[in-house]
Amino acid sequence: MITVLTGGTGGAKFVDGLRQIVRPEDLTIIVNTGDDLLWWGLYVSPDLDSIAYMLAGKLSQERGWGVKSDTFFCLHAMGQLGQPTWFHAGDRDLATHVFRSKLLADGKTLSEATAEIASRLGIKARVLPMSDSRVETRVLTPAGDLSFEEYFVQRWYQDPVESVRFAGASDAEPAPGVIEAIRSADLVLLAPSNPVTSIAPILAVPGIREALRESRARIAAVSPIVGGAAVTGPAGTLMAAQGFAVSIAGVADFYQDFLDLLVVDSEDAPAAEELRKTGMRVHCTPTIMRKYEDRIALAKSALDAAMQPPSAQDAVERP
Ligand code: GDP
Repeated sequence: MITVLTGGTGGAKFVDGLRQIVRPEDLTIIVNTGDDLLWWGLYVSPDLDSIAYMLAGKLSQERGWGVKSDTFFCLHAMGQLGQPTWFHAGDRDLATHVFRSKLLADGKTLSEATAEIASRLGIKARVLPMSDSRVETRVLTPAGDLSFEEYFVQRWYQDPVESVRFAGASDAEPAPGVIEAIRSADLVLLAPSNPVTSIAPILAVPGIREALRESRARIAAVSPIVGGAAVTGPAGTLMAAQGFAVSIAGVADFYQDFLDLLVVDSEDAPAAEELRKTGMRVHCTPTIMRKYEDRIALAKSALDAAMQPPSAQDAVERP
């Protein structure tokens, strides 16, 4: 049994590789919901949607979010009605937002709505939101206290970041199945997602970090930081703002209380050698997922390394 903790874009690529080599009934995916927002009155959950579209084979590969071949007629019409248009919800994508909002208005929880959407999309793996409670990632900048989507999509993550917090986290509970999926897994994988805004919100839900610390599962993370910078997006800036080094050592620090293995890019082999001296197990392999085959190769390599006995996990694999 494999449980994955993930955000949207980087995580979805990794999950795409994983689903080619793991039976769906053996896969549980716990997804960040700190980016969720109300958009035109609809409940939008960007990371749940990216993962669901990926698993259903509907994710736009060019954009990395939204539905492939989607159209944007509604967005255009909403603009004509004087409504904000900075969050690009496509027409087919909107159907998911309308359906989820309807289910929530009917009294379903977010996990029930997620299960319903997954089943309608023919998804066999289990997809769980981190919590049914609202936990909102807030990014404090000189321009104000922004929601994640305001910071990331509306303002192109250009603002200097003073701090990041997860509003509502202390009162939240893990969604049904989340703790069990961590406890009963043979392997827990942290996708190469943004540690600060995709994985940290999950870890901020009371009980989840403890479950990881106590789980007998092997726990491995794939680094989203390669060669001292994020592969995409603001992970580097955000890690620095939180006081972490923007390096594989910084990623190891972020997860140090529960991590068994860090999977890093071959480019970071010298840094991996240094990190091993601290006692962290590190596996080097190509981690940049440009092509479809890269996703499968990374998933295989991470899985093999994580399931090997500790002594063999330190082997450096050259590309
Ligand atoms: P978000 O919710 O859309 O921000 O998505 P994620 O947090 O899942 O993904 C963003 C993170 O993925 C960034 O920190 C990137 O550095 C990382 N990332 C994106 N593509 C790749 C890749 O091909 N390889 C690796 N190792 N990391 C990646």
